Amino acid sequence: MNDESQKEKLRQHFARRVTTQARVVLDTWQKIREHNDLAGAHRDEFLAATDKLVRYAQRFEMHSHAEAGQKILDLVNNWGSGEPLDGQLERQLQDALEALSQCTCRRTDQNSSETPNQYRRTPVYIALANEEMAGRLIRQLEFFGFRASAFSSSEQLIEACSLHKPETILMDVNFGGEKNAGIASIEQLQERHDTPIPIIFVSDEDGSIETRLRASRCGGEEFFFPAVDPGQLIEKIETYTHGNTVEPYKVLVLDDSRAQAKYMETVLKKAGMTAHIITDPMAIITALEEFSPEIIILDMYMPGCTGMEIARVIRQQDRFHSVPIIYLSAEDDVSKQLHAMSLGGDDFLTKPIDPKHLISTIHNRGRRARSLLALMIRDSLTGLYNHTHTLHLLEQEIVRARQKDQPLCFAMIDIDYFKKVNDTFGHPIGDRVLRSLSMFLKQRLRKSDHIGRYGGEEFAIILPNTQASDARNVLNEMRERFSELLQPAGDREFNVTFSCGVAAWEGDSSQALCERADQALYASKNAGRNCVTAST
Ligand code: GH3
Ligand code: MG
Ligand code: MG
Repeated sequence: MNDESQKEKLRQHFARRVTTQARVVLDTWQKIREHNDLAGAHRDEFLAATDKLVRYAQRFEMHSHAEAGQKILDLVNNWGSGEPLDGQLERQLQDALEALSQCTCRRTDQNSSETPNQYRRTPVYIALANEEMAGRLIRQLEFFGFRASAFSSSEQLIEACSLHKPETILMDVNFGGEKNAGIASIEQLQERHDTPIPIIFVSDEDGSIETRLRASRCGGEEFFFPAVDPGQLIEKIETYTHGNTVEPYKVLVLDDSRAQAKYMETVLKKAGMTAHIITDPMAIITALEEFSPEIIILDMYMPGCTGMEIARVIRQQDRFHSVPIIYLSAEDDVSKQLHAMSLGGDDFLTKPIDPKHLISTIHNRGRRARSLLALMIRDSLTGLYNHTHTLHLLEQEIVRARQKDQPLCFAMIDIDYFKKVNDTFGHPIGDRVLRSLSMFLKQRLRKSDHIGRYGGEEFAIILPNTQASDARNVLNEMRERFSELLQPAGDREFNVTFSCGVAAWEGDSSQALCERADQALYASKNAGRNCVTAST
């Protein structure tokens, strides 16, 4: 290696230290804002982290970081140790932190409306002996909207974990040099946390059962041996970061006793579920339509009708045919319970309700119902909505847009020259590209947007409450970013692009809207591909 590139490599190495430290500062600030009552408790930690940042930045001559850090340091010095933070100082600090966030910000964050929130994401930590590989993974992960940091020693990693618990850690079994030193660090690390951090272990040399067992015992969810394929790794990391964001269950409760219903609501909300309570059995149809419950809890005996009768009516509707129904009653006659179950109930809970029992029943039923539903509405390769369900969602959103008088856009995406990808790199790599585009879309779009796999290498996106010009800009930005993403194939890398057509809803039918988006997509293909066309 010549002198220049050696220097450049060193410079990059140090730059990473500074940016890692800047993120520690941003994370600590986030903690302060989230636990406002604890503000005083984190003040010293925040001061120490900022101080370290300024020292690093000065030493490695990263002037903008040094300047932003110094500004924060000056402000923190006005904040007495152990004291709560006053409003004006908080605002000044927020501005100073945003300035720091701007200079730490990844290239992909710029111009993104999400910039101020970017550092809220829980990080992914990487501890690999192969630093080049670590750097490559970080760049890839950032494309998917993950925030990843690499560490060059176990001490650094452990320190970072205590400041901000990561969603997952990618760990070399022999990290630090000694045999199994990486596992030993993880063992030490997990002891400090109540719930273990999921670990993805990688090993170049040792795939023995002893090592695998030890890795698995300290929270190793995956074990990659011998070679690590970046594409596969990123998919795994995605699994462990998505698992943490389970949507709360939507539970509908029908009980004629207001006190009982209120009690249930409190229990459910406390368990993090979304509850909708009704006390009038005649309100059931409206509640089903408006709330779309995933689980229904019915009181057995109510004036005017029984829970079993209501269950039958619910089951007569296709959409709610498989929603779990749980009965609630003081009834302890087993034969009556069995009869109730035969009429379309799934479970029976007797009053007085034990909250723990209730919540665990809902979890079990809900999990199962969701996985059955996923088989029906999701595509198995990408986990996105399938064609039929995407169209169903589009119909629903059109109804909603009409009711609320809001705009709505529909986009179609088709990968360019995808056949060539399959022909050149093989079908499995083609599948991986499809999954990588799906992950990419999931990470980049809002939660309220719906993403479907429309066909082979075609995707559809529904953007509720979105103006045509905004949709076009967002899609174009995504198109550009995706085209920069390097797709790994063994030791080679390649780029993939997509074409897109987008149409704004103009009061027409879902079919007409799809056709217009499809025509716009076709126009993009004709215009040479890798572009976004809006339907006129
Ligand atoms: P264009 O830019 O015009 O869209 O060209 P293209 O090659 O992408 O389009 P074409 O429709 O000719 O080919 C689509 C290819 O997508 C052919 C098919 O084998 C491949 N494909 C469809 N579904 C899958 C899948 O699930 N996995 C993989 N690996 N390939 C798929
Ligand atoms: Mg194509
Ligand atoms: Mg096609």
